[in-house]
Order: sequence, then C-alpha cells, then structure tokens
Amino acid sequence: MKKTIAVSLCCLSVLSASAAEELAPAAAPVGRLVVVAGPGASSAAAESAAAFLSENTSVAVAALEGEPAAGDWVIELVDDPDAPLGEVVPPRTTLNLARLRFGDPDDAKLARRTGQALCRSLASLFGEEPCVIPLCVLWRDKPSLHDLDDVPSGNYCPPCRTRMEAAARARGLEMQSDPCGLPAAEEPAPEAVPEPAAEKI
Ligand SMILES: [Zn+2]
Repeated sequence: MKKTIAVSLCCLSVLSASAAEELAPAAAPVGRLVVVAGPGASSAAAESAAAFLSENTSVAVAALEGEPAAGDWVIELVDDPDAPLGEVVPPRTTLNLARLRFGDPDDAKLARRTGQALCRSLASLFGEEPCVIPLCVLWRDKPSLHDLDDVPSGNYCPPCRTRMEAAARARGLEMQSDPCGLPAAEEPAPEAVPEPAAEKI
C-alpha cells in the first residue's frame, strides 16, 4: 500500500510540474495587434477601430500608418463593395466596412455593428471557436448582420474575454499595461425594422 501511495505522489508531482510549466509567464511580447487602413478605408476608421478594440480587450492595439512589422498581427480595414466581408489569413485579417453598410443602417446602428464585427474579426484572426452564450458577440458560427445587430451585449462574454486574452498572450502580443477591458456603454436596442435578406458574415 505504501508503495502505491508513493507512486501516486510521484505522478502528482510530475503533473504539478507540467501544470506549472503551462502556467508559467509567457515570453516577452514580440508582436503588436495593429489596425491598418487598406484600400478605400480612412486612417480615421483605423483609429476608431483601434480605440474600440483597446476599450474592449486587454490587448494593446494601435492604428498603424505604413507597413506592419514582422511579428505584428493585423486587422486591415477595407472599404470596397466588391470585396468579401472578411478574409482571414493569420496573422492578418481584413474587414470590409462597405459590407457593414448593408441595409443602410443609421450611424448608431452602423457603429454598433462595426464594433461587433471587429470583435468577431479578432476572434477569427486568433482561430477562436464560437460561443454558446446567446448574449455574447461570438455567439453562432456564421451570424448574419441582422443576427449581429440583435446580440444584446454587443461584446465578449467574460469567458470569451478571458480566452481572447489568453490567445493574444499565446501569440506573443503586447498587452495593455492598465487594461480597462470594460464593456462599451450599452446602446439602445436596435429598432425592429425589417431588413432585406441579410448577408452572411
Ligand atoms: Zn462568449
């Protein structure tokens, strides 16, 4: 019996060591998350997107003029009605602002929709799975724009916020030194205006 206990304790200590390795602090950040203005998009749009992601994640996000550096993870805004909504090829993804104007939303609705799409773009860039919580912006695999407009929180749920942070750290991304990570102010629920057939995001 004593021998069995000793073996078990030995196994436990090995497990603890491997768990401790997994929990060890990540290496120093080697990359940044940057938003760049691609074809048709303005630098103001990139600034606005970077500010939104800074407010809603713990990742350090900057709007970048010029070419990203090696190690950077990039969200490239484009504004082209003929381009797809987004194309993900890590470490870069695009988000087509022209597609977000589908159905001619008013400014408030467009801003909210753009924020939702940015949250999802970042999750796609990190290869994160959809969420099972209907309040979460990552709910559903391929929501339509109409679905996105209806997500009540307009933001990551707490577990998704945590896994996004872990995903960023795992990729060596710089984190905010004093992250607020707070949800954006709640916007009034969108009016139930019938929309044309919604596009898949
Ligand atoms: Zn979630």
